[in-house]
Parts: sequence; C-alpha cells; structure tokens
Amino acid sequence: MDVIRSAVRMKEVAQDWRRRGLPVALVPTMGALHDGHLALVRTAGQHASTVVASLFVNPIQFGPREDLARYPRDLDGDLRKLRSAGATHVFAPEASEMYPEGFQTRVVLERLPEHLCGRSRPGHFAGVATVVLKLFHLCGPTVAVFGMKDYQQVLVVERMVRDLDLDVRIVRHPTVREPDGLAMSSRNAYLTPKERRVAPELYATLRALRDLVVAGERDVSRLVTAGRDRLGKAGFAVEYLEVVDPDTLDPATSLDAPCVAAVAARLGSTRLIDNLQLVPSDAEECTR
Ligand code: AMP
Repeated sequence: MDVIRSAVRMKEVAQDWRRRGLPVALVPTMGALHDGHLALVRTAGQHASTVVASLFVNPIQFGPREDLARYPRDLDGDLRKLRSAGATHVFAPEASEMYPEGFQTRVVLERLPEHLCGRSRPGHFAGVATVVLKLFHLCGPTVAVFGMKDYQQVLVVERMVRDLDLDVRIVRHPTVREPDGLAMSSRNAYLTPKERRVAPELYATLRALRDLVVAGERDVSRLVTAGRDRLGKAGFAVEYLEVVDPDTLDPATSLDAPCVAAVAARLGSTRLIDNLQLVPSDAEECTR
C-alpha cells in the first residue's frame, strides 16, 4: 500500500493511471476509521483494482465552535486497517497541502444546503463540496464511494458531479451499524458509557416511525412529534427531526410518496445523525 502525503505527487500518480486507462475507486474519509469506513473500502475494491482511501480532517467543513481540534486522529491505526481492507493507495495530505496560503475558492450549492445539517452548519457543505472536488482532481477516480449515513452529503456530491460534468460515478453505500443499531461514526468515541447505552434510541426511533407509517399513519406532523417526544424522553436534545423528499430534501407533505426521515440530535456534547427511508423509492432500499 502506497502512502502519499503530497498533492503534487498524488496528481502525478493519478495522471499516470488515467493515461493507462485504469479504473480507480476513491473513498474519501476523515480518518479515525471504523468498520463502516472499511466496508466502503471493500466495496470500492469491487469496482476497481486501484483503491485510494483519503485521510484528511478537512478544516473548512468545520464551524468555529465545532470539534476540529478534538476530532479523533490515528494515522498508524488507520493505515493498518486500510491495508487489511484492501486499499492500494492512501492519500493523507497535511492541511497546508490542500489549502496553501491564499486559498479562497469554495464550491457552493444553492439549495441542498438550506436543509437539515446545512441550516445549523453554515458553510459546512461548501467545505465538503470543495474538498471532494479537489480530491477528485488530485486522485482522478472513475468511481467514488460515499456512505448513506451522511445522506445530505451524498446528495450534495451527486448534485455537484452532475452540475459540473465530472467524470466520476458515485456509489451509495448503506449505513453500517453496530449490533444494537447505532450507526458507526468516528464521533461515537466521544460518548460516555452512559450516553453510549442511550445512543441506539436514535435509530430505534427512526424504525418506530417507519413502523407507524407501515401501520397506516399518514400525518407527517403527528409522526415527527412522536419521534421528537421519544428522543426527548430518552435524553437527546433534538436539532432536527424531519421527513423529507429523498432527492430535494424539501419537507415531505405526504407519506404516500417516497420519503426519508432524517435526524440530528445531541447526547451531551456529542452530535449524532442518522436517517431511514420511511417510504422507499423501491423495495431494495427498505433495508437502508
Ligand atoms: P467521515 O470519515 O466520517 O467523513 O466519513 C467518510 C465516509 O464514510 C463518508 O462517505 C461517510 O458517509 C462514510 N461513513 C461514515 N460512517 C459510516 C457508516 N456507519 N456507514 C456507512 N458509511 C459511513
């Protein structure tokens, strides 16, 4: 496994792959890897024999009062895990490689960031889109794999790829969960043992909402109120719990059309997100 720290070097290597017409799969990550990340890497390996994982805690997607400084970092552990998951290359640049003195460009989407996480994290998705576009240019993937846990992020990346005519196919990977249902996340490491015991309620609540829909509930606001009440009683401070259109993220007005329940909530100082298709677009997506 080749570890590349320099942006210039990464670009040279990627240009060589392009010249040789090699399929390349990219998995962008911020490190502190868990089995969810590694599932993405293994899936990437089914799409290309060259698999690049990037490890980069992207400063421009963090707000001034967010957890950039304390975000978990474990380069040695991450490299070991990536090797065993089949990554052939790791791109792990310093922030100064990605954002040298004078950097001032952002990729800004107009509508998707007005919803869900974008409302409480101004500038977050511009930071995400900018770093992902740079990673695409530097690593030259033909395929890139993103996790559905970060549902809004997947939509932002897919929209950017279409809007900017990028030559990369986005693969959506289902959310990987702990046995008790909690979505795996690097931020789960922040949870105290007591919070960790409560955390699975987030997904349990989403599943309960889906059960209500299956049982015939047709009122979006009654559904959302039920979910908020349940999370509040469990000890979460709910930032948002919404039922949204799966493509635009506009609030759903009906539970008869495809829709997704999306939630962000805090347990103590830890912000957790999750989502679940309530009314799937097709039968296969029921398991997401
Ligand atoms: P992060 O390191 O948290 O920025 O995540 C890097 C990639 O891994 C993103 O595409 C995430 O959506 C994905 N990811 C993180 N956690 C999970 C999970 N539990 N299941 C599936 N994908 C995940």
